[in-house]
Amino acid sequence: MNDRPSDIFAGRLSPAEYEVNFGDVEPPLDAKRALVDSSRCYFCHDAPCIEACPTGIDIPTFVRKIATGNIKGAAITILEQNIFGGACARVCPTEILCEQACVRNLSEDKPVNIGALQRYATDHLFAAGVQPFQRGPATGKRVAVAGGGPAGLACAHRLAMLGHDVTVFDPREKMGGLNEYGSAAYKVPHDFVQREVEFILSLGGIEARTGKALGRDISLTELRRDYDAVFLGIGLPGVNALKAEGEDLKGVEDAVAYIARLRQTKDKSRLPVGRTVVVIGGGNTAIDIAVQTKRLGAEDVTIVYRRGAVSMTATDHEQEFAQINGVKIKHWARPLRLRGTNGQVHEVEFEYTQLDSEGRLTGTGDRFTLAADMVFKAIGQVFLPDLVIKGAAEPLELKDGRIAVNAERATSLPGVYAGGDCALTHHDLTVQAVEDGKIAAHSIDEYLKTK
Ligand SMILES: Cc1cc2nc3c(=O)[nH]c(=O)nc-3n(C[C@H](O)[C@H](O)[C@H](O)COP(=O)(O)OP(=O)(O)OC[C@H]3O[C@@H](n4cnc5c(N)ncnc54)[C@H](O)[C@@H]3O)c2cc1C
Ligand code: SF4
Repeated sequence: MNDRPSDIFAGRLSPAEYEVNFGDVEPPLDAKRALVDSSRCYFCHDAPCIEACPTGIDIPTFVRKIATGNIKGAAITILEQNIFGGACARVCPTEILCEQACVRNLSEDKPVNIGALQRYATDHLFAAGVQPFQRGPATGKRVAVAGGGPAGLACAHRLAMLGHDVTVFDPREKMGGLNEYGSAAYKVPHDFVQREVEFILSLGGIEARTGKALGRDISLTELRRDYDAVFLGIGLPGVNALKAEGEDLKGVEDAVAYIARLRQTKDKSRLPVGRTVVVIGGGNTAIDIAVQTKRLGAEDVTIVYRRGAVSMTATDHEQEFAQINGVKIKHWARPLRLRGTNGQVHEVEFEYTQLDSEGRLTGTGDRFTLAADMVFKAIGQVFLPDLVIKGAAEPLELKDGRIAVNAERATSLPGVYAGGDCALTHHDLTVQAVEDGKIAAHSIDEYLKTK
């Protein structure tokens, strides 16, 4: 039996180290660099980068505006299509979206620096404190939005621009969804998320009601009764279980919950972290928790994933970033049991995995053990259908565990729309959630004209 004392402490680093580790991971471009980078754009006709952006930002137009010194105009071009253009400039995996599609890759293997240029333009506009949008004439229609994440707020903003009055309900203390509570702290440092939320709300016509949860304080039936239309953007509030023995030991944590705590802890030296950390999962959440615990001062951080590197949903860029940060990634293994001393986890036993002749994942029977002061579960979040179907006279149709929507983001219930992670659309990404919210707002607008 292992009686190694658990080693979970706060304050492992000096104040200067925390400052560096949780500062801006990608320093912003200066004016000279922005000019040089923007001049690399060919301003392509039928630009493939526009096609690759889920929100369809007119990239050559905004890049050209930067190249000609019209930075505010560039920001407006971005925000017209994507009101979260500032957040997306920081968190979008551009390497698999616009920058992957950039034709510059063909000649030089180096795309135009689209993400950084987008940030340059939107930061400029925010710094100037400009509100470039206006509300349309009041329609007298009221729309309820459940969820104040990127999907809900993008929908609310577009609806408010179209003249509707919007109320956004969210159980958290702050609006912003996973931008505020989930994104890696070094991608969106300081108070950027709340400044962006304030910018969005400053349009007017949007009432933000925090501390209010659908399914707890208010039901879908009530929202449908009291409002002219409803948008659901409540994300994926549940977490998958490991289904391994010992999962309830102390020190075994849900990665997303810990990241939320980390994001809300101003002074990172107060956050306890293990000396030895094991992360189970293969997506961006696994990468984010691994890198952030390393940056909190954990000495030894290992991600264990049940399949090979190519099956990881974390992009190659993210996997490389984790390794640069000293995180080890071990493939082809699954947890069997977690063992502890006095209720506190101290090691995880894994079994090696392989694909059988029919392509199914199986255990090989060979085992190994990793010491762990903390174990993070990063194996995905789930939608909680009860929040929307409990007590409803007409149930909302679900598909693959999420809300079923058509191309207009309409659900099976008249006047109810959905988007972002809680609905089955495309990628689970901030930019996709924004696009879903925007599409739903226009669909709701059309629907309200018929009422
Ligand atoms: C750890 C982590 C890191 C990520 N990093 C990135 C990244 O770097 N880049 C990227 O593009 N994507 C990233 N994602 C994915 C991205 O954050 C999501 O795809 C995006 O936030 C989805 O937006 P949403 O509005 O649908 O949901 P959310 O952002 O989850 O917002 C949902 C909102 O609904 C609220 N809510 C929950 N329950 C209720 C209820 N019952 N009633 C009312 N409101 C409710 C929540 O409080 C929240 O504010 C990450 C996700 C995670 C978990
Ligand atoms: S594909 Fe690249 S070069 Fe062409 S318009 Fe887009 S950013 Fe510019």
